[in-house]
Amino acid sequence: MLPDFRVRQRDYLLEIARVITQDLDLDQVLARILQHAADLLAGQAGLVALRGNTGGWNLAASYGIPDALIQYLDPILSAVPDHEDPARFELPEVSRMLARLAREASLGLFTGVGLPLIAQNRVLGVIFVFRNYRGIFSPEDRLLLQSFADQAAIAVQNAQLYEHTAQEKRRTDAILDAVADGILILAADRTIERCNPAFERLSGRRANDMIGRKHSEVIQFNEIEHGPTLEQSEAGGWPLTPTATLYVEGDLERPNGTKLAVGVTYAPLLTREGQLLNVIASVRDVSHFRQAEEMQSTFISVISHELKTPVALIKGYVGTLRREDVRWDSKTVQDSLTIIEEEADHLAELIENLLDASRLEAGALSLNATDLSLPRLVERIAERFRTQTDKHTITVEFPEDYPVILADEQRIGQVLLNLLSNGAKYSPKGGVIAITGQVRPEHVVVCVSDQGPGIAAGDIPHIFDRFYRAGEAQRSTKGAGLGLYLTRAILEAHGGSIWVDPQYKDGACICFSLPRSQ
Ligand code: ADP
Repeated sequence: MLPDFRVRQRDYLLEIARVITQDLDLDQVLARILQHAADLLAGQAGLVALRGNTGGWNLAASYGIPDALIQYLDPILSAVPDHEDPARFELPEVSRMLARLAREASLGLFTGVGLPLIAQNRVLGVIFVFRNYRGIFSPEDRLLLQSFADQAAIAVQNAQLYEHTAQEKRRTDAILDAVADGILILAADRTIERCNPAFERLSGRRANDMIGRKHSEVIQFNEIEHGPTLEQSEAGGWPLTPTATLYVEGDLERPNGTKLAVGVTYAPLLTREGQLLNVIASVRDVSHFRQAEEMQSTFISVISHELKTPVALIKGYVGTLRREDVRWDSKTVQDSLTIIEEEADHLAELIENLLDASRLEAGALSLNATDLSLPRLVERIAERFRTQTDKHTITVEFPEDYPVILADEQRIGQVLLNLLSNGAKYSPKGGVIAITGQVRPEHVVVCVSDQGPGIAAGDIPHIFDRFYRAGEAQRSTKGAGLGLYLTRAILEAHGGSIWVDPQYKDGACICFSLPRSQ
């Protein structure tokens, strides 16, 4: 026959084993542990404290103690050593503390025993059981609680691990939801197990339509810029090592028929034995890198052409004038020098525009704003321009009481000159170039119109982009596609804007606005 306390110990240990295997909710585990511990020792109350993340002991569960009185037990928790090392862990003499507390707060608890909950050589909690009658806790009581505490520690650890895992999962979910890159988690047979919202956006498909489908059905490239596909690499034995990532770049086909330039990095997830568990694919929209690359090559071709042409002309004319075997008449010399001067001006202007563009990129386009009368500035620039063209008639029309604004005169002059020279350049047959001003409550508006062929509807959204030149302009005129880009930047730096007037049908009409000074 087992002695009585052994029978009780066995029964309670069995019960605790059930708690461990059945319940993973930490609060419930603690409540049941505490209740069983109190029953086991014929106690009426108990509490469990667990170690906080930053040290110290926090009350995690209580039994048989009214909520209003729990605070009176704080001194017991404060006396628990603030570390996790079982070798140096000594709990306070509870009964003596209780005697003092009972006097102060009439808790009705007279004796108590406390034991650490130790798992994997770490004190993860402490358990106290209290009795409401006098008499000491016997060595058997302690032994009972000890064997119980060892089991309870495992239950607590399991529940904590479960909670930790659940927390990790919530964190992973939050990361997957928040990252800008599309993430696909593939099973070992390459079916899609999971994808994040960013991948839904990039691929133009719903998660529900993708989960369970094969990778090759969803990631289909129209054109591959870099690397073999996942399927081709696997045919070659990928992945041979746990760190063997794979990068594929190309145009991803989307269900609505559009394509998106993406870079996909595949990383294998292997078991310890080296068996493939998952493939994680991260998908990045690389269209802006592509645009930047295209821009770079456009830049080089436009700029080299624009720089080379005037230099070739200057060299050609200088070479001709220097010929010693020919005597040039003074008109030819003057005409040649005029061309040389014009081309040198053109070069200087181009260099200035390039410098402005790079200043703009560096955010260093500074303004020197002063009171500015736009009608006067426009008249001055128009006058200067009239001397440069005999094919065009330049008209200026501003209302009488046009307000003075606060703006950088030199920069706004540059804007007007750009619009005016475009008007002349893109209406080579001549005609009227009209500059008109209007006043609105919040801002002033200036429009520059010409009688050329106008701007094709498809080009309108792009003409303010860097280096953009419409097809016809590229064929028949000189230019670097920087004028309107800089013009817009200058106006936006003033708080203004620029647009193409869609109503105007006789040619092109570009208008800009600037805020009225307060
Ligand atoms: P660039 O004149 O050096 O090409 P801009 O930035 O000034 O560069 O203009 C960009 C493009 O906008 C031009 O290449 C041309 O296609 C178009 N454009 C600008 N102004 C006019 C205009 N008045 N009429 C027709 N097309 C224009």
